[in-house]
Amino acid sequence: MTKPIFNFCAGPAMLPKAVMAQAQQEFVNWNDLGCSVMEISHRSANYIDVAKQAEQDLRDLMNISGDYEVLFMHGGGRGQFASVPLNLLPAGGEADYISTGSWSNAAIAEGKKFGKVNIAAESHSENGFASILPRDKWNLSDNAAYVHYCPNETVDGVEFDYIPDVDKPLIADMSSCILSSEIDVSKFGLIYAGAQKNIGPSGLAIVIVRKDLMGKSREGTPSIYDYALQSQSDSMFNTPPTFAWYLAGLVFKWLKAQGGVKAVQAINKQKADLLYNYIDESEFYSNRVVANYRSKMNVPFYLKDENLNKAFLAESEANGLLALKGHRSVGGMRASIYNAMPLEGVQALVEFMQDFAQRNS
Ligand SMILES: *Cc1c(COP(=O)(O)O)cnc(C)c1O
Repeated sequence: MTKPIFNFCAGPAMLPKAVMAQAQQEFVNWNDLGCSVMEISHRSANYIDVAKQAEQDLRDLMNISGDYEVLFMHGGGRGQFASVPLNLLPAGGEADYISTGSWSNAAIAEGKKFGKVNIAAESHSENGFASILPRDKWNLSDNAAYVHYCPNETVDGVEFDYIPDVDKPLIADMSSCILSSEIDVSKFGLIYAGAQKNIGPSGLAIVIVRKDLMGKSREGTPSIYDYALQSQSDSMFNTPPTFAWYLAGLVFKWLKAQGGVKAVQAINKQKADLLYNYIDESEFYSNRVVANYRSKMNVPFYLKDENLNKAFLAESEANGLLALKGHRSVGGMRASIYNAMPLEGVQALVEFMQDFAQRNS
Protein backbone atom coordinates (compact mmCIF):
# COMPACT_ATOMS: atom_id res chain seq x y z
CA MET A 1 0.00 0.00 0.00
CA THR A 2 1.32 3.44 -0.82
CA LYS A 3 1.83 5.84 2.05
CA PRO A 4 -0.82 8.56 2.41
CA ILE A 5 0.32 12.03 1.36
CA PHE A 6 -0.34 14.99 3.65
CA ASN A 7 0.10 18.45 2.19
CA PHE A 8 0.95 21.18 4.71
CA CYS A 9 1.19 23.99 2.16
CA ALA A 10 0.19 27.43 3.45
CA GLY A 11 -1.64 28.33 0.26
CA PRO A 12 -2.89 27.32 -2.15
CA ALA A 13 -3.58 24.63 0.40
CA MET A 14 -4.98 21.12 0.37
CA LEU A 15 -8.71 20.70 -0.13
CA PRO A 16 -10.84 17.95 1.42
CA LYS A 17 -10.19 14.65 -0.37
CA ALA A 18 -13.91 14.00 -0.68
CA VAL A 19 -14.43 17.33 -2.41
CA MET A 20 -11.59 16.70 -4.86
CA ALA A 21 -12.99 13.27 -5.66
CA GLN A 22 -16.45 14.68 -6.31
CA ALA A 23 -15.07 17.46 -8.51
CA GLN A 24 -13.09 14.89 -10.46
CA GLN A 25 -16.07 12.60 -10.85
CA GLU A 26 -18.27 15.36 -12.30
CA PHE A 27 -15.51 17.26 -14.06
CA VAL A 28 -16.42 16.53 -17.68
CA ASN A 29 -20.09 15.82 -17.21
CA TRP A 30 -21.66 17.99 -14.58
CA ASN A 31 -25.33 17.60 -13.68
CA ASP A 32 -25.71 15.31 -16.71
CA LEU A 33 -25.30 18.28 -19.04
CA GLY A 34 -22.53 16.58 -20.99
CA CYS A 35 -20.12 19.39 -20.18
CA SER A 36 -18.27 20.85 -17.24
CA VAL A 37 -19.67 23.38 -14.79
CA MET A 38 -16.69 25.40 -16.03
CA GLU A 39 -18.12 25.45 -19.54
CA ILE A 40 -21.58 26.85 -18.90
CA SER A 41 -22.80 30.42 -18.75
CA HIS A 42 -22.70 32.10 -15.38
CA ARG A 43 -26.16 33.43 -16.26
CA SER A 44 -27.66 29.99 -16.87
CA ALA A 45 -30.25 28.72 -14.41
CA ASN A 46 -28.00 25.75 -13.65
CA TYR A 47 -25.09 27.93 -12.63
CA ILE A 48 -27.17 30.44 -10.72
CA ASP A 49 -28.38 27.54 -8.57
CA VAL A 50 -24.75 26.69 -7.78
CA ALA A 51 -23.93 30.30 -6.96
CA LYS A 52 -26.97 30.88 -4.75
CA GLN A 53 -26.58 27.58 -2.92
CA ALA A 54 -22.94 28.33 -2.13
CA GLU A 55 -23.91 31.70 -0.69
CA GLN A 56 -26.71 30.18 1.36
CA ASP A 57 -24.46 27.46 2.74
CA LEU A 58 -21.84 30.02 3.73
CA ARG A 59 -24.54 32.10 5.41
CA ASP A 60 -25.70 29.03 7.33
CA LEU A 61 -22.17 28.03 8.33
CA MET A 62 -21.24 31.48 9.62
CA ASN A 63 -24.68 32.50 10.77
CA ILE A 64 -24.61 35.63 8.60
CA SER A 65 -27.64 37.87 9.07
CA GLY A 66 -29.58 39.74 6.40
CA ASP A 67 -27.77 42.92 7.45
CA TYR A 68 -24.78 41.64 5.51
CA GLU A 69 -24.12 41.16 1.83
CA VAL A 70 -21.99 38.19 0.75
CA LEU A 71 -19.90 38.81 -2.35
CA PHE A 72 -17.79 36.46 -4.46
CA MET A 73 -15.10 38.62 -5.99
CA HIS A 74 -11.96 38.45 -8.10
CA GLY A 75 -8.44 39.30 -7.02
CA GLY A 76 -7.87 37.17 -3.92
CA GLY A 77 -6.88 38.57 -0.56
CA ARG A 78 -4.65 41.29 -1.88
CA GLY A 79 -7.38 42.57 -4.17
CA GLN A 80 -9.24 43.45 -0.98
CA PHE A 81 -6.24 45.35 0.39
CA ALA A 82 -7.19 47.92 -2.27
CA SER A 83 -10.91 47.28 -2.45
CA VAL A 84 -11.45 48.04 1.26
CA PRO A 85 -10.02 51.60 1.13
CA LEU A 86 -11.54 52.27 -2.30
CA ASN A 87 -14.97 51.53 -0.89
CA LEU A 88 -14.70 52.61 2.73
CA LEU A 89 -12.05 55.31 2.95
CA PRO A 90 -13.26 58.67 1.65
CA ALA A 91 -10.75 60.70 -0.38
CA GLY A 92 -8.59 62.60 2.11
CA GLY A 93 -9.72 60.35 4.95
CA GLU A 94 -7.80 58.18 7.35
CA ALA A 95 -7.99 54.64 8.66
CA ASP A 96 -6.49 52.70 11.57
CA TYR A 97 -4.50 49.55 10.89
CA ILE A 98 -3.22 47.04 13.44
CA SER A 99 0.18 45.58 12.63
CA THR A 100 0.74 42.03 13.83
CA GLY A 101 2.89 40.51 11.08
CA SER A 102 3.51 40.07 7.37
CA TRP A 103 -0.03 40.18 6.05
CA SER A 104 -1.32 43.07 8.11
CA ASN A 105 1.81 44.94 7.03
CA ALA A 106 1.09 44.19 3.39
CA ALA A 107 -2.43 45.54 3.86
CA ILE A 108 -0.94 48.68 5.44
CA ALA A 109 1.43 49.20 2.51
CA GLU A 110 -1.45 48.97 0.04
CA GLY A 111 -3.76 51.08 2.18
CA LYS A 112 -1.22 53.92 2.14
CA LYS A 113 -1.84 54.33 -1.58
CA PHE A 114 -5.37 55.47 -0.84
CA GLY A 115 -5.16 57.72 2.17
CA LYS A 116 -3.70 58.33 5.58
CA VAL A 117 -2.96 55.13 7.44
CA ASN A 118 -2.49 55.24 11.22
CA ILE A 119 -0.65 52.26 12.56
CA ALA A 120 -2.60 52.09 15.79
CA ALA A 121 -0.58 49.14 17.07
CA GLU A 122 2.89 48.08 16.01
CA SER A 123 4.00 44.47 15.73
CA HIS A 124 4.88 43.31 19.19
CA SER A 125 7.03 40.71 20.87
CA GLU A 126 7.74 39.59 24.43
CA ASN A 127 11.14 38.14 25.31
CA GLY A 128 11.73 37.23 21.69
CA PHE A 129 8.32 35.61 21.30
CA ALA A 130 5.89 37.07 18.77
CA SER A 131 2.80 38.52 20.43
CA ILE A 132 0.03 41.08 19.95
CA LEU A 133 0.06 44.52 21.55
CA PRO A 134 -2.67 44.48 24.24
CA ARG A 135 -5.88 46.17 23.12
CA ASP A 136 -5.65 48.87 25.85
CA LYS A 137 -2.36 50.06 24.37
CA TRP A 138 -3.73 50.65 20.87
CA ASN A 139 -3.63 54.20 19.69
CA LEU A 140 -6.89 54.45 17.75
CA SER A 141 -7.76 57.76 16.10
CA ASP A 142 -11.03 59.62 16.35
CA ASN A 143 -11.37 60.20 12.63
CA ALA A 144 -10.63 56.71 11.35
CA ALA A 145 -13.13 55.45 8.78
CA TYR A 146 -12.45 51.89 9.95
CA VAL A 147 -10.06 49.67 11.90
CA HIS A 148 -8.33 46.97 9.88
CA TYR A 149 -6.63 43.89 11.33
CA CYS A 150 -5.58 40.37 10.44
CA PRO A 151 -6.99 37.85 12.94
CA ASN A 152 -4.56 35.14 11.82
CA GLU A 153 -1.10 35.95 10.49
CA THR A 154 -0.39 33.13 8.07
CA VAL A 155 3.37 33.68 7.90
CA ASP A 156 4.07 34.48 11.54
CA GLY A 157 1.65 32.01 13.10
CA VAL A 158 0.12 34.68 15.33
CA GLU A 159 -3.64 34.57 15.93
CA PHE A 160 -6.00 36.75 17.96
CA ASP A 161 -7.90 34.83 20.62
CA TYR A 162 -10.53 37.57 20.82
CA ILE A 163 -12.38 40.01 18.58
CA PRO A 164 -11.15 43.52 19.39
CA ASP A 165 -13.75 45.97 20.61
CA VAL A 166 -13.59 49.20 18.59
CA ASP A 167 -16.14 51.93 17.95
CA LYS A 168 -15.47 52.09 14.19
CA PRO A 169 -16.34 49.47 11.57
CA LEU A 170 -13.97 46.55 12.18
CA ILE A 171 -12.44 45.09 9.00
CA ALA A 172 -10.85 41.65 9.17
CA ASP A 173 -8.59 39.85 6.73
CA MET A 174 -9.63 36.28 7.50
CA SER A 175 -7.87 34.72 4.53
CA SER A 176 -6.25 31.99 6.61
CA CYS A 177 -8.79 31.50 9.41
CA ILE A 178 -12.27 31.94 7.95
CA LEU A 179 -14.53 29.02 8.90
CA SER A 180 -11.90 27.59 11.27
CA SER A 181 -13.75 28.64 14.41
CA GLU A 182 -17.09 30.13 15.33
CA ILE A 183 -17.22 33.91 15.23
CA ASP A 184 -19.88 36.53 15.77
CA VAL A 185 -20.16 38.18 12.36
CA SER A 186 -22.21 41.04 13.80
CA LYS A 187 -19.05 42.38 15.48
CA PHE A 188 -17.57 43.19 12.07
CA GLY A 189 -18.12 45.84 9.45
CA LEU A 190 -16.50 43.70 6.82
CA ILE A 191 -14.77 40.33 6.62
CA TYR A 192 -12.78 39.24 3.61
CA ALA A 193 -10.81 36.17 2.68
CA GLY A 194 -8.81 34.94 -0.26
CA ALA A 195 -10.19 31.47 -0.90
CA GLN A 196 -7.07 29.35 -1.25
CA LYS A 197 -6.46 28.53 2.40
CA ASN A 198 -9.72 27.35 3.89
CA ILE A 199 -12.23 27.56 1.05
CA GLY A 200 -11.15 26.63 -2.45
CA PRO A 201 -9.02 27.63 -5.44
CA SER A 202 -7.02 30.86 -5.48
CA GLY A 203 -8.23 33.99 -7.24
CA LEU A 204 -11.60 34.06 -5.51
CA ALA A 205 -12.23 36.37 -2.57
CA ILE A 206 -15.20 36.13 -0.23
CA VAL A 207 -16.41 39.47 1.12
CA ILE A 208 -18.99 39.73 3.89
CA VAL A 209 -19.95 43.38 4.20
CA ARG A 210 -22.51 45.18 6.35
CA LYS A 211 -25.02 46.64 3.92
CA ASP A 212 -24.95 50.17 5.33
CA LEU A 213 -21.23 50.42 4.51
CA MET A 214 -21.76 49.94 0.79
CA GLY A 215 -22.47 52.59 -1.79
CA LYS A 216 -19.80 55.08 -0.74
CA SER A 217 -16.98 54.00 -3.05
CA ARG A 218 -14.73 56.81 -4.13
CA GLU A 219 -14.55 58.16 -7.62
CA GLY A 220 -12.37 56.05 -9.89
CA THR A 221 -13.05 52.76 -8.10
CA PRO A 222 -12.76 49.96 -10.68
CA SER A 223 -16.24 48.54 -11.24
CA ILE A 224 -15.26 44.98 -10.41
CA TYR A 225 -14.01 46.19 -7.00
CA ASP A 226 -17.09 48.23 -6.18
CA TYR A 227 -19.08 46.48 -3.44
CA ALA A 228 -22.39 48.19 -4.22
CA LEU A 229 -22.12 47.43 -7.92
CA GLN A 230 -21.19 43.82 -7.26
CA SER A 231 -24.03 43.53 -4.80
CA GLN A 232 -26.54 44.89 -7.33
CA SER A 233 -25.32 42.34 -9.87
CA ASP A 234 -25.18 39.35 -7.49
CA SER A 235 -21.36 39.28 -7.81
CA MET A 236 -21.75 38.89 -11.57
CA PHE A 237 -20.97 42.37 -12.81
CA ASN A 238 -18.48 40.58 -15.02
CA THR A 239 -17.88 36.85 -15.35
CA PRO A 240 -17.05 35.62 -11.86
CA PRO A 241 -14.46 32.87 -11.24
CA THR A 242 -17.16 30.25 -11.82
CA PHE A 243 -15.16 27.11 -11.20
CA ALA A 244 -13.67 28.47 -7.97
CA TRP A 245 -17.15 29.50 -6.80
CA TYR A 246 -18.52 26.02 -7.58
CA LEU A 247 -15.64 24.37 -5.71
CA ALA A 248 -16.09 26.70 -2.75
CA GLY A 249 -19.72 25.54 -2.72
CA LEU A 250 -18.61 21.91 -2.51
CA VAL A 251 -16.33 22.78 0.42
CA PHE A 252 -19.23 24.51 2.21
CA LYS A 253 -21.37 21.38 1.75
CA TRP A 254 -18.49 19.27 3.05
CA LEU A 255 -18.17 21.51 6.11
CA LYS A 256 -21.87 21.13 6.81
CA ALA A 257 -21.52 17.37 6.54
CA GLN A 258 -18.69 17.47 9.12
CA GLY A 259 -21.12 19.08 11.56
CA GLY A 260 -20.42 22.70 10.67
CA VAL A 261 -17.90 25.17 12.03
CA LYS A 262 -18.35 24.15 15.65
CA ALA A 263 -17.38 20.54 14.92
CA VAL A 264 -14.45 21.54 12.73
CA GLN A 265 -13.25 23.98 15.38
CA ALA A 266 -13.04 21.13 17.90
CA ILE A 267 -10.92 19.05 15.52
CA ASN A 268 -8.75 22.08 14.74
CA LYS A 269 -8.06 22.49 18.44
CA GLN A 270 -7.15 18.83 18.76
CA LYS A 271 -4.75 19.10 15.82
CA ALA A 272 -3.09 22.28 17.07
CA ASP A 273 -2.80 21.00 20.66
CA LEU A 274 -1.19 17.79 19.47
CA LEU A 275 1.45 19.63 17.47
CA TYR A 276 2.20 22.45 19.93
CA ASN A 277 2.32 20.07 22.89
CA TYR A 278 4.87 17.93 21.13
CA ILE A 279 6.96 20.95 20.08
CA ASP A 280 6.89 22.28 23.66
CA GLU A 281 7.94 19.03 25.27
CA SER A 282 10.72 18.37 22.78
CA GLU A 283 14.22 19.74 23.17
CA PHE A 284 14.70 19.50 19.45
CA TYR A 285 12.02 21.89 18.13
CA SER A 286 10.66 25.25 19.22
CA ASN A 287 7.86 27.67 18.42
CA ARG A 288 8.40 31.39 18.95
CA VAL A 289 4.90 32.72 19.59
CA VAL A 290 3.43 33.44 23.06
CA ALA A 291 1.00 30.70 24.01
CA ASN A 292 -2.22 32.79 23.92
CA TYR A 293 -1.63 33.98 20.38
CA ARG A 294 -0.50 30.79 18.70
CA SER A 295 -2.25 30.16 15.44
CA LYS A 296 -4.42 27.07 15.15
CA MET A 297 -4.02 27.13 11.38
CA ASN A 298 -0.34 27.88 10.74
CA VAL A 299 2.26 26.41 13.06
CA PRO A 300 5.76 27.76 12.47
CA PHE A 301 8.55 25.89 14.21
CA TYR A 302 12.32 25.79 14.24
CA LEU A 303 14.86 23.02 14.63
CA LYS A 304 17.32 23.84 17.39
CA ASP A 305 20.08 22.90 14.99
CA GLU A 306 19.23 24.74 11.80
CA ASN A 307 21.94 22.81 9.95
CA LEU A 308 19.47 19.95 9.90
CA ASN A 309 16.80 21.94 8.03
CA LYS A 310 17.69 20.50 4.64
CA ALA A 311 17.63 16.93 5.88
CA PHE A 312 14.35 17.53 7.71
CA LEU A 313 12.68 18.83 4.58
CA ALA A 314 14.05 16.10 2.30
CA GLU A 315 13.10 13.31 4.68
CA SER A 316 9.67 14.67 5.55
CA GLU A 317 8.85 14.93 1.87
CA ALA A 318 10.10 11.40 1.24
CA ASN A 319 7.68 10.37 4.00
CA GLY A 320 4.70 11.96 2.29
CA LEU A 321 4.66 15.13 4.41
CA LEU A 322 4.73 17.94 1.87
CA ALA A 323 5.53 21.65 1.92
CA LEU A 324 6.82 22.08 5.47
CA LYS A 325 9.33 24.76 4.57
CA GLY A 326 8.73 28.03 6.45
CA HIS A 327 8.05 31.26 4.62
CA ARG A 328 11.24 32.64 3.08
CA SER A 329 10.98 35.78 5.23
CA VAL A 330 11.10 33.89 8.54
CA GLY A 331 12.87 30.60 7.70
CA GLY A 332 12.44 27.42 9.70
CA MET A 333 9.41 25.21 9.19
CA ARG A 334 5.69 25.79 9.01
CA ALA A 335 2.87 23.28 9.13
CA SER A 336 -0.39 24.70 7.84
CA ILE A 337 -3.23 22.66 9.27
CA TYR A 338 -6.38 24.15 7.81
CA ASN A 339 -9.84 22.60 8.03
CA ALA A 340 -9.07 20.10 5.26
CA MET A 341 -6.09 18.60 7.11
CA PRO A 342 -7.27 15.47 8.92
CA LEU A 343 -6.07 14.66 12.45
CA GLU A 344 -4.16 11.70 10.94
CA GLY A 345 -2.02 14.18 9.01
CA VAL A 346 -0.89 15.92 12.18
CA GLN A 347 -0.36 12.56 13.90
CA ALA A 348 1.85 11.46 11.00
CA LEU A 349 3.77 14.73 11.22
CA VAL A 350 4.38 14.42 14.96
CA GLU A 351 5.50 10.80 14.53
CA PHE A 352 7.95 11.84 11.86
CA MET A 353 9.23 14.73 13.98
CA GLN A 354 9.79 12.38 16.93
CA ASP A 355 11.61 9.90 14.77
CA PHE A 356 13.75 12.57 13.13
CA ALA A 357 14.66 14.05 16.51
CA GLN A 358 15.62 10.66 17.87
CA ARG A 359 17.84 9.85 14.93
CA ASN A 360 19.58 13.22 15.04
CA SER A 361 20.09 13.88 18.75
C1 LIG B 1 -2.68 34.44 1.59
C2 LIG B 1 -3.10 35.65 2.28
C3 LIG B 1 -3.35 36.85 1.60
C4 LIG B 1 -3.12 37.03 0.12
O1 LIG B 1 -3.98 36.33 -0.66
P1 LIG B 1 -3.85 36.44 -2.26
O2 LIG B 1 -5.06 35.72 -2.70
O3 LIG B 1 -2.56 35.78 -2.65
O4 LIG B 1 -3.86 37.87 -2.63
C5 LIG B 1 -3.79 37.94 2.33
N1 LIG B 1 -3.95 37.87 3.66
C6 LIG B 1 -3.70 36.74 4.34
C7 LIG B 1 -3.92 36.72 5.81
C8 LIG B 1 -3.26 35.60 3.68
O5 LIG B 1 -3.02 34.47 4.37
